[in-house]
Amino acid sequence: MKPVLDILFPVTVTANQDGNEKEYYLIQDRHGYICKSDEVLDILEKAVAFYKREDINDWIERENQKTSIELYSSYNFDVDFKKNKAGKFMIPSPQMNYKEFNSKKAHWGFKCGWCESKVSSKTSKGYYTLSFPHIQNLEHGEFVRACSKECGALIWKDTFKHWIHDNDYQDLFE
Ligand SMILES: [Zn+2]
Repeated sequence: MKPVLDILFPVTVTANQDGNEKEYYLIQDRHGYICKSDEVLDILEKAVAFYKREDINDWIERENQKTSIELYSSYNFDVDFKKNKAGKFMIPSPQMNYKEFNSKKAHWGFKCGWCESKVSSKTSKGYYTLSFPHIQNLEHGEFVRACSKECGALIWKDTFKHWIHDNDYQDLFE
């Protein structure tokens, strides 16, 4: 997909036709120059033909979903949706931090978010925390902790798989 011209802006104008005020659109370029008929008629006719295609809004919605996934990557410093060779998006790599239990503080523990095994400052040196990117509809807890790197990676993958499924992105991802 390539833009044909620089962005075109429709502008409302009214004109008197047979004593009646009628509303029209004229097309200006981004500098405000009004385009001549030979510059825009071909584009408009093809645009009308495009928009009249059957189920066109389904196709547009799909394309816009791809755009929004790409925008997440470009706006969000903490997520990067790369594409594979087939052009499908890949689940980004997990954002995980290793945290050591503070031996000077009172003992505490938690259940691993994946395998549910107990992780305690009495028996473990440390644990992993996950930081999920702030993207729409991505469900995750505020503090997601895991007993190991492996469990953390599985929580990460599972969270994204649910997000892909809930948003109907299956065919956009590998
Ligand atoms: Zn675990």
